[in-house]
Amino acid sequence: MTGALAGVGLVKKYGATTALAGVDVAVGESESLAIMGPSGSGKSTLLHTLAGIVRPDGGEVLLRGERIDRLGENRLSELRRTRFGFVFQFGQLLPELPAEENVALPLMLEGVPRRRAVQRARRWFAPLGLDGLERRRPGGLSGGQAQRVAIARALVIEPDVVFADEPTGALDQVTGTEVVRLLTSVTREQGAALVMVTHDADVAARCDRIVQVRDGRISAHSQYTVA
Ligand code: ADP
Repeated sequence: MTGALAGVGLVKKYGATTALAGVDVAVGESESLAIMGPSGSGKSTLLHTLAGIVRPDGGEVLLRGERIDRLGENRLSELRRTRFGFVFQFGQLLPELPAEENVALPLMLEGVPRRRAVQRARRWFAPLGLDGLERRRPGGLSGGQAQRVAIARALVIEPDVVFADEPTGALDQVTGTEVVRLLTSVTREQGAALVMVTHDADVAARCDRIVQVRDGRISAHSQYTVA
């Protein structure tokens, strides 16, 4: 069983540093996986390897059972644009564009005409509690609102997998909890898998499963159920 996305025996070296020393990890459709571990343990390298941003030196990355780690750069970048969504610590919204156009951007990059792209983008505002903020520019949004716009932008292409790197890192506890609650529930409803790096145990506990990374290896698995 490979699920939506799997890493099998992943190895990544940077010179003398072994960032990943043989990692096996899988996430199913509609499932969320949190990656935790100390600084420098290999969390980002693992996320980036699964997302086709970093090429592993050994092992395989399987998206719905198909190997993606040996694809050429063009094919990989197309796959990242069409099948993966990304949410980072800082929303990385374009400040000059209203929220709805930030969300519509991934569709426009795929050739969807602007009006249609914006229409599709608007559908994400209510589920993410952003009603009425469609024309607001990022500078006029709170940190939590901006992060919810970033989530909408990640989901608008209806990806197979959403990757989130410290998505609550720049938010206070209450706002962060609300953002991650929405992120996990909306990706689940969408049928997408979620892979999230976080140092926050409360945030990780919102995911279906948690793996702990230490010295480039998975040191522990745990299963949580959030009521
Ligand atoms: P974490 O996300 O858990 O903080 P990283 O995956 O960023 O850990 O890093 C794991 C190890 O790989 C660290 O020792 C780090 O210094 C090293 N590393 C990560 N990226 C690079 C890179 N681009 N070049 C050289 N070393 C790197």
